[in-house]
Amino acid sequence: MKLSDILQDIIFPPNCIICGKYLGLGTRPLICSSCEEQYSAFNGNCSRCGSTFDFSGAMPLCHTCRSARHPFDGVISAYFYKDGVRRTIIEHKFSFYRNHSIIFAGSLNSALEKLFGEEKPDFIVSVPPDKKRLNARGYDPVFEIASALSKLSSIPFRYAVLEKIKSTPNQSLLSYRARLKNVRGCFKVTDKDAVKGKNILLIDDVFTTGATCRECSKILKKAGAAYVLAVTVSISERFKK
Ligand SMILES: [Zn+2]
Ligand SMILES: [Zn+2]
Repeated sequence: MKLSDILQDIIFPPNCIICGKYLGLGTRPLICSSCEEQYSAFNGNCSRCGSTFDFSGAMPLCHTCRSARHPFDGVISAYFYKDGVRRTIIEHKFSFYRNHSIIFAGSLNSALEKLFGEEKPDFIVSVPPDKKRLNARGYDPVFEIASALSKLSSIPFRYAVLEKIKSTPNQSLLSYRARLKNVRGCFKVTDKDAVKGKNILLIDDVFTTGATCRECSKILKKAGAAYVLAVTVSISERFKK
C-alpha cells in the first residue's frame, strides 16, 4: 500500500460514500459492491431510454433519444437518484466533499471506458452553475466532478464554453414542461468556434427530467457541435427499465 493511499485513508476514512459501510484501508473505489448492485444505472445502454447505442458512426448514438428529437445523442448515468445516492449527491451539492467528486468521476469514467474505445470525445463541458448559488456556496459541485473526470479520462475540460446568463428559480418542484420553460434562454455558448464540429460530453450531477441537459445540448448543437452525450452521476428512477 502506498504512503499516499494511507494518508488519503486518514483524511478520508475508507467508508462507502453511499451507505457508510467501512471498507478497510486501501479499498478503492469507495462505493461498496452492494451499493453498486442496488443503484447502478449503466449497463452499456442509454440510461434515459434503455435502448442500445449504435456504434456505427464515429461516436455511439442512442437512436431512440435521437429520433425523439432530443438534442443530445444519448444519456449515460452511473446511478439511480434515490435513497443513499440522493443523500450523497445532496451532501456533495451543499458542502465541500471533494472526495465525492473523485469517486463519482471514477464511476463515470468506467462507464465511458465501456462506451468509447480509443476514439474519445474532443472535450468535456459541465452544466454551468447559477451565479447566485455559486456565490452562496463558494464552489461548483458539477465543476468538481467534471474536472476530476477530465483528469481520470484524459479528455480535456473546457469549463468556460458554457455560461449561465440568467438565474432560475429552484427547479425541484416543477413539472417537465415548466422546467423546460424555466431554463429556456438561460445558458449561452461563449465560444462557438471551440464547439463547431466537436464531440462533447456534457456533465451534470442529476438528470431529473432532462430539461437542463436538453437546453444545454440544444445550444451546443445550435453552435455547431457534432455530438453531445449527456453524462450525469445520477438519473431519476422514472427512467429505470
Ligand atoms: Zn455501500
Ligand atoms: Zn436514449
